[in-house]
Amino acid sequence: MGKPTGFMDYERQPWPEREPAERSTDWHDYTIPMLEDEAKKQGARCMDCGVPTCHMGTELNGMTTGCPVYHLIPEWNDLVYQGQWKEALEREHKMNNFPEFTGMACPAPCEGACVLGINEPPVAIRSVERAIIEKGFEEGWVTATPPPERTGKKVAIVGSGPAGLACADQLNKAGHQVTVLERHDRIGGLLTYGIPEMKLPYKVVERRVNLLQAEGITFLPNTEAGTDYSTSALRKDFDAVVLCGGATKHRDIPIEGRELKGIHYAMDFLHLNTKSLLDSGLKDGDYISAKGKDVIVIGGGDTGTDCLATSVRHECKSLTQFDIHEKKGDTRLDGNPWPQWPVVHRIEYGQKEAGAVFGADPRAYMVQTTRFVGDENGHVKEVHTINVKEEFDENGNKTRKEIPGTEKVWPAQLVLLAIGFSGPEQGVLEALGIETDERSNAKAEYGKHHTNIDGFFAAGDMRRGQSLIVWAINEGRQAARECDRYLMGATNLP
Ligand SMILES: Cc1cc2nc3c(=O)[nH]c(=O)nc-3n(C[C@H](O)[C@H](O)[C@H](O)COP(=O)(O)OP(=O)(O)OC[C@H]3O[C@@H](n4cnc5c(N)ncnc54)[C@H](O)[C@@H]3O)c2cc1C
Ligand code: SF4
Repeated sequence: MGKPTGFMDYERQPWPEREPAERSTDWHDYTIPMLEDEAKKQGARCMDCGVPTCHMGTELNGMTTGCPVYHLIPEWNDLVYQGQWKEALEREHKMNNFPEFTGMACPAPCEGACVLGINEPPVAIRSVERAIIEKGFEEGWVTATPPPERTGKKVAIVGSGPAGLACADQLNKAGHQVTVLERHDRIGGLLTYGIPEMKLPYKVVERRVNLLQAEGITFLPNTEAGTDYSTSALRKDFDAVVLCGGATKHRDIPIEGRELKGIHYAMDFLHLNTKSLLDSGLKDGDYISAKGKDVIVIGGGDTGTDCLATSVRHECKSLTQFDIHEKKGDTRLDGNPWPQWPVVHRIEYGQKEAGAVFGADPRAYMVQTTRFVGDENGHVKEVHTINVKEEFDENGNKTRKEIPGTEKVWPAQLVLLAIGFSGPEQGVLEALGIETDERSNAKAEYGKHHTNIDGFFAAGDMRRGQSLIVWAINEGRQAARECDRYLMGATNLP
């Protein structure tokens, strides 16, 4: 255990951020480095509990609690407190191939399950995790280590998001020749073309991809499995295939006026923005601009928050985020006890920035969009809404009831739909004859990951639906283990 009285001596101090108004004018990382001494104090707050619920990732009440990659959290908290950074890094990499991605962007379900969090602010676990890996890169401890021997087996991974990258890393470590096919021009999946630059800079993704390449993994960008690389070639060229294509089929709002110009899926807005930013610093103009516009973001989740942060940087005229739910309270409700993920009101980076620029939190709660109205050029000019409240019917099913008299008209020249995803795109799954489940995800048992087709595995969002980076890494690792067992008859992969 770190410092026995650490949790009483030191306050929780999460990773520091730049001032919201100042950072909202550029695309750099919105945080600033944590000092080494501060990271040690945060590690010292860990009580090394007998049953460290923080590291046992699972789902309770439909929400993730604890760390899905089973990070050895109390061990590395202690090692950081003792100043044994290299040993802490080894512990981190044992369970997580990419702690730099989770250290920057994981919502930290571990912290919701931290025992200290029952009556005190929890240990700043994610910040300590990030401090360890950043120190590792700074000190030059993270280097390419190609496998000493090759097995002669060839594996294709479809998709280069966190699931595909973790799976590729593990299978390469086991000595297989791994090729990653990615339909986009850059590697990284939603790490690159979903999460914006200021939250997870591309150079962080690229740094890891360069290491994986130096270790012997082949990356084929601009290559879509099923079209650019035929399914018959996939079967012929490889001994096994792992499908990690994500779950980015858009969910839509089929209401009056949906066809108007100026209404876009959030993912198109975010993807084009990052691509133009990385290609030309936004000089090519190949993106959907929010500049000077009244912007409405429909959807109260993380994708919506990323749209806020991007719109603010475009210098939009006004910014509103619709959330269909009620505003949450500041503390857990009785029905949401520890160690469940705390369902409480949060102010994320994009909301802080919108608040700093426009003087108020951009969210409007319990708002349902009823129709879009356009101008004479077929461009959206208004969004019509009504407030709704959640109720339960006699069968216990949740329904939403409109509240008469709450109709409202909002001016808007740009509307961004951030209401989630309805599963994986089906193209490659259909072409290969992969069975899907009732939610249209690739059907494969969790922990086994083998689909109905011999030698074809599935992992990440493509198997479980849109989720988190940390679950994608967990699934990529497990699919790699099962794929290795399939190829070799036994496996040493964790
Ligand atoms: C806007 C946004 C923000 C998010 N923010 C966070 C966050 O802050 N923290 C967090 O933990 N999670 C976040 N998530 C969720 C997280 O990004 C995903 O759960 C995670 O990336 C899933 O990883 P994956 O590897 O399964 O799929 P993806 O990251 O979606 O990668 C799949 C890849 O497969 C490629 N592909 C698909 N089909 C083919 C094909 N036929 N041939 C070749 N390539 C193909 C796709 O182009 C894509 O690059 C966010 C999601 C979105 C949409
Ligand atoms: S990966 Fe996420 S859940 Fe796991 S320790 Fe890091 S922040 Fe916590």
